[in-house]
Amino acid sequence: MSITNSITKLLNFKEENLTFYEDFLEERIINHNRCFVLKGYLFNNFDFCPKCGCINNNTIIKKGIEKSLIKINKISEITSYLELDKQVYKCKCCNKKITAQSNIVNFGCHISNNLKMAVLNCAKEIMPKSLISRLYNVSDNTVQNIFNTIFYNDKVYKDFLPKAICIDEFTFKKKTYAFNICNAKNGKTIDVVLDRTAYNLDKYFSHYTEKARKRVKFVVMDMYGPYIDLIKKWFPNAKIIIDLFHIVQLLTKSLNKTRINVMNENKEDRNKYKRYWRLILKSRFDLNTSSWQKFRCFKELMTEVDVVDYLLKKDQFFENSYDLYQDILYHLQHRDYIGFNKVINKKYENISKQMYTTLNTLKKYSKYIKNTLEYSYSNGVMERNNNTCKLIKRVSFGSRNFRNMKSRIMIITNIFRKEKREYHTKYSIPKYT
Ligand SMILES: [Zn+2]
Repeated sequence: MSITNSITKLLNFKEENLTFYEDFLEERIINHNRCFVLKGYLFNNFDFCPKCGCINNNTIIKKGIEKSLIKINKISEITSYLELDKQVYKCKCCNKKITAQSNIVNFGCHISNNLKMAVLNCAKEIMPKSLISRLYNVSDNTVQNIFNTIFYNDKVYKDFLPKAICIDEFTFKKKTYAFNICNAKNGKTIDVVLDRTAYNLDKYFSHYTEKARKRVKFVVMDMYGPYIDLIKKWFPNAKIIIDLFHIVQLLTKSLNKTRINVMNENKEDRNKYKRYWRLILKSRFDLNTSSWQKFRCFKELMTEVDVVDYLLKKDQFFENSYDLYQDILYHLQHRDYIGFNKVINKKYENISKQMYTTLNTLKKYSKYIKNTLEYSYSNGVMERNNNTCKLIKRVSFGSRNFRNMKSRIMIITNIFRKEKREYHTKYSIPKYT
């Protein structure tokens, strides 16, 4: 095998019109760094002139050489360059200059395509842009440009929306929220919009075609009132589903606040209320009723139910609130809407203030909670996406440019996630029987 063949194979270049010189390797100092420079010669065989299209009957002649220095992937952790002597041709028909081109590097570029692919591979990892630029010895702007090329190729199409979507928001900057839409089935981000105000979102959704909007059958969201009007206006066929996790979270928060109020009034048992918060929030059916054990704040041996009962006895309001909490939780866990509706529509007295407001909220949204219990969609995929967004923001110490951050989010939660899933289905581990 000749030198050229072995080097092109080693560097993973798929270029036939490239030959390396015999003394192809040189060490050089570029930007105060020791670098490898590989030297080669690039030519083209033309059947016709690419400028005017006339057939080559010895009409295209050689005319000088153009040098170019291209950055390629590191070799043994040393920055490497490819110095190409590009053959320049001249067409006799149109008198125009033609420079030899290769698929190692794009026209007008000084960074090889292999290096760009390596940078892109890093885009899916949660690491700051500056770290990627340092790893591959390219500038920050280059990294962002490479990210942007892939993002803009995969731009948002306004004539299609999936059957079920999730909506949520996360903080982009102080007091500025970014609005996030994703596919409820596979978790791919559809779009991220800066500013979640009603005016802005109205403007945004008006860009989608009517057909696309009517295709949406389910919208999963948390309990944020203004979105409901928005969904009713723009998605006429959609059923609103409130995420189950957020309902349970609302309940636990209000019971927890009640507990803290009781704790502050009750100086004697303060440590007991403080220590066993987890048992109070636990579903009553999961509490241990049979095994007797030592609890630190109690002298005698007790079961978990005994501890909870002791704490409840002290305060009537707290006990009533606890019973209501357990009732609602039971019906939610068993996905029983009729029972749930009965419980929230009863008249309650002597329950805590926090529990009362929660009850009112649940009544207000009970129409949508019905859908929650009927269908299996949840906001889990969205919370995962939001977590990724926050992580990217955190590792890069905040972001000033929303477009740049959006491109990164789209690459991680949209493009690369697709490949990963396909990978698992295609090459899953075979089962040996
Ligand atoms: Zn020509």
